Amino acid sequence: MDEIAAHERTDAALQKAKEAAEAANAAKSRYIIGVSHEIRAPLNAISGYAQLLERGATERPQDAVRVIRRSAEHLSNLIDGLLDISKIESGLRKLSRDKVKLPDFLDQLADMFRIQAEAKGLEFRYERAPRLPGWVHTDSRILRQILINLLSNAVKYTETGFVALTVRYRSQIAEIEVADSGIGIRPEDLERVFEPFERGRGAAVRAVAGTGLGLTITRLLTQIMGGDIAVRSAAGSGSAFTVRLLLSEAAPGEEAERRPVAGYAGPRLKVLLVDDDPEQLGLMQEILRPLGFLLFTASDAAGSLDLAAQCRPDLALLDISLPGESGWDIAEALRGRFGPAIRIVMVSANAYEAAGPGDGRRPHDAFVAKPIDIAQLLDRIQALTGLEWLQAGGQGGGEPAGGGPGAGEAPAPPAATPAPPPPPGPAAAPAPAALRHLDDLHRLGRIGYVRGIEAKLREMEAEDPALAPFVERLRSLVRAFDLKGYMKVVDLARSDGVGG
Ligand code: ADP
Repeated sequence: MDEIAAHERTDAALQKAKEAAEAANAAKSRYIIGVSHEIRAPLNAISGYAQLLERGATERPQDAVRVIRRSAEHLSNLIDGLLDISKIESGLRKLSRDKVKLPDFLDQLADMFRIQAEAKGLEFRYERAPRLPGWVHTDSRILRQILINLLSNAVKYTETGFVALTVRYRSQIAEIEVADSGIGIRPEDLERVFEPFERGRGAAVRAVAGTGLGLTITRLLTQIMGGDIAVRSAAGSGSAFTVRLLLSEAAPGEEAERRPVAGYAGPRLKVLLVDDDPEQLGLMQEILRPLGFLLFTASDAAGSLDLAAQCRPDLALLDISLPGESGWDIAEALRGRFGPAIRIVMVSANAYEAAGPGDGRRPHDAFVAKPIDIAQLLDRIQALTGLEWLQAGGQGGGEPAGGGPGAGEAPAPPAATPAPPPPPGPAAAPAPAALRHLDDLHRLGRIGYVRGIEAKLREMEAEDPALAPFVERLRSLVRAFDLKGYMKVVDLARSDGVGG
């Protein structure tokens, strides 16, 4: 009797497992049908318009090309979204535990979305609890993606009024609310919108491009962080998404812990650099090219506008004082031509120019003072474009832009293998002539720009072979990613000229 009972139990368990497998299989089939359906519509548009163009049968080829490009973008967003979901569901997206300077992290996101909201004529409200901890433990990439998804939706689905980011914090729990005064979500859609491919019903939603995957990804990411997400909304009067997460307070970290930037995730961005000083142009190229940007350079207004018409840059870095027309004129022309699609950063030694050319115009998105603080420049670029830096030593799971360093002109990042310990004993002191180099080494070290440091060290070595031991010492510290040690040696040499 015992044996029969045991068999019955096994039988029941097998039956249950079989049903679960069948249900999973059915879900997968439904998912694939959903995916195929989503892919078919843009593919049809591409194929249809391509055939029309081929036959010369369309009156407005520009419109056809635009539909094709938009459909291709939509397909590419779909694929990115699906890959993201499968990465999360298969557990490939592992949580990391970074130390994050929370107020700065939030301010940066707010900067990024203030620009987007204002470009659309919306008010951007930002409020963070005064008693926010300075540092918390969290996975910053995932937290950033959650907030970017919610804030992008808020801007996307709001035509008038405001977008608001509010952050509260109590007993280690952060409550982050993204609210807007946009089209809102109908009550019957409130749960559905979190499912893959589901979008709100109604003409207002259909008028806006979307894949219906953003909230699915956002909820999955919130869940793997151990948090939850809720939404309140009423059709026509805005929405509020609230994410609650445990963000445990961390001991203050050091900003120097910032890992070297080796590139960025996502498609390659085209950057227009305009400066009449070849040295300044060279410096910018040296900073940006290894990170994977596609650079276009010009030294005056006419040249830069011709170039922009051809390359359609995503970002422009414009020196203000140029012979003939100024950087402001270029900024105005670029803004007129490309609208908010182009991000414009003005570069000048005169900080008073940050607000604009002084006649009420404000054609730019940001200002960076000369001499360039590379960390600040990279922060600005991140805030404006929303890109995500990848650090050397590869903690980030994203793909570097354009195949990453190693593709095209970008050399591979140095491997993060431990280097042999630095040579013992004090190294030779650098000659006073090397002080200029030391300042550069300090600047490059502050942002952890390893390739820049290595280039500088090669330059110093070639200029003055007597510096070899000093250079070698710094090189081994950098190769071991001991940037703190590196900064100590550099700063010591700067202050009293002693290399050891
Ligand atoms: P997508 O925006 O690509 O359609 P999401 O998954 O991000 O996909 O959002 C799903 C749906 O939820 C959207 O299609 C929209 O109907 C609704 N939605 C999301 N955020 C908002 C918002 N802030 N205001 C109004 N509707 C929203």
